[in-house]
Amino acid sequence: SSNETSVVNNVPSQLFIGGAWVDSVAGGTFDVCDPATGRVIKSIADATAEDAALAMDAAASAQAGWAATAPRVRGEILRTAFDLLQERADEFALLMTLEMGKPVAEARGEVTYGGEFLRWFSEEAVRISGRYGVNPEGTGRTIVTHVPVGPSYLITPWNFPLAMATRKIAPALAAGCTVIIKPAELTPLTTLAMVKLLQDAGVPAGVVNVLTSTDSKGVSAPILEDARLRKLSFTGSTPVGVSLLKQAADRVLRTSMELGGNAPFLVFEDADLDRAVDGAMQAKFRNIGQACTAANRFLVHESVAAEFAERVTARVRELRVGRGTESGVSIGPLINEAAIEKADALVRDAVNRGATVLIGGNRVDREGTFYAPTVLTGVTAGSDILSQEIFGPVLSISEFTDEADAVAQANDTEYGLVGYVFTRDLARGQRLIESLQTGMMGLNVGVVSNAGAPFGGVKQSGLGREGGLEGIHEYLETKYVLTPDP
Ligand code: ADP
Repeated sequence: SSNETSVVNNVPSQLFIGGAWVDSVAGGTFDVCDPATGRVIKSIADATAEDAALAMDAAASAQAGWAATAPRVRGEILRTAFDLLQERADEFALLMTLEMGKPVAEARGEVTYGGEFLRWFSEEAVRISGRYGVNPEGTGRTIVTHVPVGPSYLITPWNFPLAMATRKIAPALAAGCTVIIKPAELTPLTTLAMVKLLQDAGVPAGVVNVLTSTDSKGVSAPILEDARLRKLSFTGSTPVGVSLLKQAADRVLRTSMELGGNAPFLVFEDADLDRAVDGAMQAKFRNIGQACTAANRFLVHESVAAEFAERVTARVRELRVGRGTESGVSIGPLINEAAIEKADALVRDAVNRGATVLIGGNRVDREGTFYAPTVLTGVTAGSDILSQEIFGPVLSISEFTDEADAVAQANDTEYGLVGYVFTRDLARGQRLIESLQTGMMGLNVGVVSNAGAPFGGVKQSGLGREGGLEGIHEYLETKYVLTPDP
């Protein structure tokens, strides 16, 4: 449509380095496609190591000036960015649907969620404080203050193109750090539009730089090896995170890692099943199942498993599959062919090991990469779907016998991002807060993400927290000073 064309035409197609939109030095470009149709949306600059070196120079040159900029000024720029995003909300939503596939209504929700990081950290910029105290011996005075870490490299994934960018850029800028952001090659357009918005909001030259590239490793190498880089913040898969942590170790970089998940969704026999079913639909089918927080394993008490399965299946039957721009659609395409193959292989493995398909279980026969929303019940121990991230619209149900069994199954994973617990028993809920080995928990709710709360995982789900009071400290270094008695 003409609306789609104008939204895409407004997106810059170049790299943003040192305050200027520029082609890559080598001149290469690559295509960004719509997963609902497979068609090319736009061709953009393909950065190489040469461009990365220039971006590093720009971020390093701008660091001192940005750190010295008054916190109020840094905050006001972020607040202006938040306001501009509200004006451009519909364009951003449509752009995300076009490059990533999520339904427009969900994309609109991501604009709200992602925008909140700009607003939250605009407020946090002026609340960076320290302390003054007497040392234990009474012989001196201690001062503790927080200073910007320095130039930061931000690597983001394709599944939440706007929120993953603002969740890193906003706290970095609020703290006084300059950044180089490298969005995922599958969905780079939203980040390009966001960087343009930040430019319009008055971010000084060099403070935000963006590299789009098909060679994520090659473009990252000169940055990670540069002594001027002080921080790496990554959201993506655990294997890539592990490899980046090893590279970061060579330079002893500060790191924040938001990695994979394998969220358990526990439904106890005393749960409010209406709430549990609503929560399940959100925790599973939001973003077409492509979220690290997506419920991966539904663990349901044996006495309510059949009813729960029947009720979610009835709800899944109502989901409309289609291009995210069509009205009434709640299940868009998966991001690519590999995602379809992975979901399908996990379903077939579960069925081979005894699971039953209540609905779905197949690719949708139409152009684009669509997988039918699926419910599996009777998924047995040892099935791959219990240990791997599905990242698709497949709801896998297994049973447990009692609370100890539920906790043991829930914690039987190397991941520890989030867990969902549905129970009416307050004491049980409190016990689960302590026994679930996760960084986050939804207690009778199916979505936990919120700009005002610390998002992050334990075990192989990552290091550090984004959002909340904690988020800005990922970009601050603690500095301690001792002075003698006055
Ligand atoms: P996903 O499975 O969600 O695509 P990835 O971990 O593959 O997650 O990708 C997340 C981000 O990490 C993307 O921006 C991608 O380009 C980037 N990336 C992937 N491999 C590397 C690498 N070796 N070095 C630096 N960045 C990488």
